[in-house]
Amino acid sequence: GPVDVAALLKELAEEYRLGAEKRNISINVSPGEKIIVQADQDRLRQIVLNLLSNAVKYSDDGGEIVVGAIAEEAYVRIYVRDSGRGIPDEELERIFDKFHRVDSSRDSASGGTGLGLAIVKELVELHGGRVTARSRLGQGTEMTVEIPG
Ligand code: ATP
Ligand code: MG
Repeated sequence: GPVDVAALLKELAEEYRLGAEKRNISINVSPGEKIIVQADQDRLRQIVLNLLSNAVKYSDDGGEIVVGAIAEEAYVRIYVRDSGRGIPDEELERIFDKFHRVDSSRDSASGGTGLGLAIVKELVELHGGRVTARSRLGQGTEMTVEIPG
């Protein structure tokens, strides 16, 4: 059914804000007009939650996270951007594989099973969309989801 993406992003950012603030991490929702996408509300929520969870988990104290949505002609683009540790180029494809974690020693302190992004990819593809990652090591990561409008 129709999902109000901007409202969903605001609500999810709110859920994470308290925990993030303990580490001085800010979560900003890029202001946008009402954007409606045809999607399964629970699945879309799961997609954004997994991305937001990573953004918080792989950010250093004091980091900045921005989430937003943009309506393009043929699809809605949702992005989650962080200023965290980043992902090495050669890992960018594999992070979507089940159980793949970039560096078990690097990431073990933060815990996780390596399933979050595999689930994101599956749910996005169920909607006929795609998910991509752009990252610079030590500078941050931007995850982009495109869902056909
Ligand atoms: P889970 O999500 O199952 O709790 P996880 O977070 O380790 O565990 P994924 O969400 O699938 O698993 O992410 C896979 C790996 O990709 C992570 O272990 C981490 O190494 C890397 N990664 C994902 N998102 C980010 C990000 N925003 N910044 C830096 N590294 C990331
Ligand atoms: Mg995760």
